[in-house]
Amino acid sequence: MFGVLRGMGITFKNFVASYFLPRKPNSLETGGMVTLQYPEERLPEKERFRNFPFLIYDTKPDDLRCVACDICAKECPPKCIYIVRDNDEQGRPLKKPKVFDIDFTVCMNCGICEEACPFDAIFMDHEFEVGGPERQQSLVYHMDQLLKPATHFAKIRPTDHVAIEEKRRKEAEKKRAAAQAQPKPPEAKPPQA
Ligand code: SF4
Ligand code: SF4
Repeated sequence: MFGVLRGMGITFKNFVASYFLPRKPNSLETGGMVTLQYPEERLPEKERFRNFPFLIYDTKPDDLRCVACDICAKECPPKCIYIVRDNDEQGRPLKKPKVFDIDFTVCMNCGICEEACPFDAIFMDHEFEVGGPERQQSLVYHMDQLLKPATHFAKIRPTDHVAIEEKRRKEAEKKRAAAQAQPKPPEAKPPQA
């Protein structure tokens, strides 16, 4: 009985507050009404919110971090990532994808691709409005739709961006130090006359 009265009291309080304590736009901060008038209004997403993955590039889309190693595709539980490695003119494999597709109708937003990628090349995005007006709209996203700049990642996930950039800086330093520590090949002797 006490629980019922308490519940009715809360309902009544919210009912009254919804008239006298109007909510701030795009916020649930008030004692009153908590229904958000989506899509006109929307709450800011939390940094760790995740939906579909995207591919990151540093300065320009050609400069993508993905090396087409296929690890994310192998680890993806519903197998919705499809990658074809690019080749040069002689047919030798390049360290970049020619095709990188993700079927968003199958993706279950688990984030395993992000965790599995050793090159910090794929991250979970905040975007969730991927529908469209067409009945047969394809939700297979191709590389040009998946590519987003590192500035986008910095904007949606600033904490992770700082941590990842620091990790990449340390890795680059380590590689540079290792390369410098390599013994130099002996200099070729000039041909004798
Ligand atoms: S996104 Fe990462 S794991 Fe997937 S193919 Fe590219 S480099 Fe490999
Ligand atoms: S989020 Fe999960 S299901 Fe979606 S592409 Fe990545 S690994 Fe696959």
